[in-house]
Amino acid sequence: MAHAGTVGPEATVEEMRRSEGGRLASTQALTDEAIIWASLHGLLVGLGDKERPYALTHAPISVVPVPFPRDSFEKARAAMQVFNKLIDRVSRDGEYLQHTLQPAAEFDDFTAKLLDVYRATREVRKARQQDELVLAINRSDYMLDEPSSTLLQVELNTIASSFGCLSTLVSRMHRHILERSAQPGVDLGRLPQNHATEEIADAIGAAVQEYGDADAVVLFVVQPNERNSYDQQWLQQAIWERHRVRTLRCTLAEIAERGSLDASGQLRVDDSVVAVAYFRAGYSPNDYPTEVEWKAREMLESSRAAQCPSVAYQLAGAKKVQQDLAGRGVVERFVDGPEEAALIRACFAGLWSLDDLEDAATREVLARAEASPEDFVLKPQREGGGNNLYGPQILERLSQRRGLAAYILMQRIRPPINRSTLVREGKVIEVDTLSELGIYGTFVRRGDRVILNREAGHLVRTKAATSDEGGVAAGFAVLDSPYLT
Ligand code: ADP
Ligand code: MG
Ligand code: MG
Repeated sequence: MAHAGTVGPEATVEEMRRSEGGRLASTQALTDEAIIWASLHGLLVGLGDKERPYALTHAPISVVPVPFPRDSFEKARAAMQVFNKLIDRVSRDGEYLQHTLQPAAEFDDFTAKLLDVYRATREVRKARQQDELVLAINRSDYMLDEPSSTLLQVELNTIASSFGCLSTLVSRMHRHILERSAQPGVDLGRLPQNHATEEIADAIGAAVQEYGDADAVVLFVVQPNERNSYDQQWLQQAIWERHRVRTLRCTLAEIAERGSLDASGQLRVDDSVVAVAYFRAGYSPNDYPTEVEWKAREMLESSRAAQCPSVAYQLAGAKKVQQDLAGRGVVERFVDGPEEAALIRACFAGLWSLDDLEDAATREVLARAEASPEDFVLKPQREGGGNNLYGPQILERLSQRRGLAAYILMQRIRPPINRSTLVREGKVIEVDTLSELGIYGTFVRRGDRVILNREAGHLVRTKAATSDEGGVAAGFAVLDSPYLT
């Protein structure tokens, strides 16, 4: 496969290194510059050392941006508002959600638990339907598929869509590195502006304003010992600076202890009224070690505060729903007209249900997956990286026929390979890589009134081409930004 070069043909890191004229002559010098910039500007992650909770390091990063086709980038941006609308409407269709997710829930306890909370809070939801306050911070992820030359959606995240703030900083860092290295042929106009921090903070600010209590706070629902807390801290700062709204950080266990609901559904933590509960936890079964955490989730869900996301939104972001929407005529039920549907459908990879193993189409795709597992990814209903099955793992799981309804089968996307210099905790590697583009989307609604629906910035994650999974927090990938070609 062809190597596309790191920042376009004129300016690979290798060429910058050889360049006489550039102010930064070596890969090492560029890397030093990137790490120092990151440290000086808060592009940081925790070390995850329980003894020293403030021990930190620069975020895992690519030293220079990665080439990415402009038309694909623009296509992904153009689809975001329609995706926001689609997911919102899916989240409002309780019948559809339950019907689509029930087969998975029969074999997956976590999906079953989320559906339980959804059903247990049905009455409150109905009573508030007219004035429910909704805040969504979505991120639709894509990879280029080289064989078909199309941009295909990997997944759409409705919960804990992270890295908006660090990604904004990576875009600024790459601009600095390219500008400072003064390499002839580098066009800074090819680095797209990225305002994810501001956009996400403003969506949260709009939801707080709509809640209508000047003293109310935003509750960040977090994991204990979060390594990616600086991405969150940046957002807390931006919410304060741009909207003068205070934020609190609590785990689900702390919310169970310190939270309360009054008869009107007003949520308090200690003495603070909560306008928005913003989840950076709660997407994994590990976030609910006991019933206490589930009780906290149910309390949040029963409150008048905007949940980002509500359980309905979390369910709407399930892989199973993504697969079902790709089925004939389904997206069309939720969006407005064939143009919107086409915008969305153009992004869909091959997706197959494993609900009914007697179904002829299912049998056919199972046979194909068993013959060439390398062309597929087998996905459970999980978030956060590291959960999908590949190659031999697919064969092993498929061979036990029971419980396959908990999974979806997806076409394996084959992105182009680039050569990148990646840095993690000061260690540098130069490797063949694959990149994944994420587009953020923000959405605020009160009852039937849409207050805000925006495309809200981007993220690129780059990983070694030999790694199947791509999570930055899970340790597989680094943060990157696009150099549009
Ligand atoms: P999660 O919700 O855990 O992030 P994803 O669907 O994003 O789940 O999968 C995790 C990673 O696995 C992705 O970031 C990507 O690197 C890889 N991946 C997922 N789906 C595909 C696919 N269809 N083809 C190739 N790689 C994939
Ligand atoms: Mg996800
Ligand atoms: Mg993902």
